[in-house]
Amino acid sequence: MSSAGDRRLPAMDTAVLEFVRRRTETTRVEIARELGVTAATVTNSVKRLLAAGLLWESGHARSTGGKRATLLRVNDAARRALGCTIDEDRLSLVAVDTTGALQSRVVLPLADATDATEVVAGVREGLAALVPGDELSAMTGIGFAMPAHLPEEVARALGTLTAELDVHSVRGREATCAALGSFWSGEQAGSGLSGTLHLGSTTMLALLLDGIPFRPDSGRPLDHIRVDPDGPACPCGRRGCLHLYVAPSGIADLSRTALAASRGDESAESQVRAAALPLMRIAANLATAVGLDTMVLAGTPVQAAPAIYLTAAQQYFAPDDATRLVISQVQPHPCAVGAAVLALQTFWTTGRR
Ligand SMILES: [Zn+2]
Repeated sequence: MSSAGDRRLPAMDTAVLEFVRRRTETTRVEIARELGVTAATVTNSVKRLLAAGLLWESGHARSTGGKRATLLRVNDAARRALGCTIDEDRLSLVAVDTTGALQSRVVLPLADATDATEVVAGVREGLAALVPGDELSAMTGIGFAMPAHLPEEVARALGTLTAELDVHSVRGREATCAALGSFWSGEQAGSGLSGTLHLGSTTMLALLLDGIPFRPDSGRPLDHIRVDPDGPACPCGRRGCLHLYVAPSGIADLSRTALAASRGDESAESQVRAAALPLMRIAANLATAVGLDTMVLAGTPVQAAPAIYLTAAQQYFAPDDATRLVISQVQPHPCAVGAAVLALQTFWTTGRR
């Protein structure tokens, strides 16, 4: 087994690294000013990050009178991480570099996402396609975006697989991973409060504060928020629950309908529009209640038919709204990219892993 635990980056180093990543190129003076810490703190932190190969000095800033400041950049080749998301009908796996940029991707069909043997075989096949076997243990880690209600035996089997492959693994909620994938892909502003409404195995809202998951394990699925007390009966015993409108026949089916809509099928288009409107009403209410700077819509149906969701959103989000609206378009899957980011953030080390 690998042992990175004792070499984890101090929180200050992680903050510095994240700041440099967002700026692409910056100086020690700017880092100290923007993070509100002393020059000595930044100097020590940068020294560790340079020694670890995570940052490099890329030149000198233009002179402002005194000595020219050294420019710093993230060494994008320093680390690689993997992300995996398990949807009802497919597995998506990605490899990203230190900056979160997508390097390679694999999507594999799944007949039964609750079958541990099939899921493990799929992940193994996907990893073999993404990373040559002898490089696997050099990866920083793998993140799994976990669907709600995934049988415990599938989770256990994935744990056994990653232990056997000697790769660190971390699990996150789908919505949290979708939020991180969107943030690291540059879809959101660098600071402020963002909410990502993710259509996956459940519909959930994940909050990021300045790009960091805010209480990632709190919050509940929005599926049984009541949209219409006279609506269709829900298995929960009540009527008119949100999921009956958002994805009446399941997310995989809605994604297929959304794809047909994007190819010009008019009946599919009206079905997706009808599904999008109640969702957007809830989204707008949440954005106002929480005071979001950015509201991100994510999930495979949204990705398949972004224009329909955007038009539906415009019914509820005014152009002068305080909340900026983003339709997430992270390829191949925001959760897979976000899960890899989660692995990067969890297993940042000063070691050469
Ligand atoms: Zn219900």
